[in-house]
Amino acid sequence: MSLPGQLYKLQQLDIELQKNQQVAEEIIRQLNENKALLTAESKLASQKQQLTEWKRNQKNSEWELEDLQERLNQFNNKLYGGMVKNPKELVNLKREAENLKGKISTKEDELLELMSQVEEMEAKVKVSTKELSELKQEWQEKQEALTQRKVETETVLTRLKENRQELAEQISSEALNLYEQIKLTKGQAIAKVEQGRCQGCHITLPTSQWQRAKAGDLVQCNSCNRILYVE
Ligand SMILES: [Zn+2]
Repeated sequence: MSLPGQLYKLQQLDIELQKNQQVAEEIIRQLNENKALLTAESKLASQKQQLTEWKRNQKNSEWELEDLQERLNQFNNKLYGGMVKNPKELVNLKREAENLKGKISTKEDELLELMSQVEEMEAKVKVSTKELSELKQEWQEKQEALTQRKVETETVLTRLKENRQELAEQISSEALNLYEQIKLTKGQAIAKVEQGRCQGCHITLPTSQWQRAKAGDLVQCNSCNRILYVE
């Protein structure tokens, strides 16, 4: 293989390497991507917290209601037990019993409201739990597929690096340096010549110039400075 041919091959390997490196980086980025999962986890956690709080409120409300009913029973016992004879005292007892009944009714409404809130939140927690579990399953499967692709890409990268190393060893350090220098500014250091034109900048080259390149000399395009390669 001529020197320009070797450099052209080197360039193809570099392009392949770069492409696969980008793929590897993208895979790593996706492997670390768990935003949806974290969001679902935090949503479920806050729903569970809310549920616990509402259940506690419900329990408290139930206890308060029991207390009120207990007190009402005591008043009723006094009222209808026949122990209290004083009419004024009876009127007072009656008033207090009515007062308690009102409180009980309010407490019952409050409890019903809480019970329906708890029920609603329990349903939400159930849905979120299912969603999270599906998301986890999905994520797990995606992780496995990505890990597999990562291994494959790394294998390709290793092979490409070996090939590049092997090829670079056959090329003089001056030519390699020139290649790297042009690559730094131009992205691609080698330009093919097709129909007498440099494919890097599309200028028509003097025949003698591309013929020297064809013969294997290291010739740079006058216009874009790239090393010319004629197939
Ligand atoms: Zn050119």
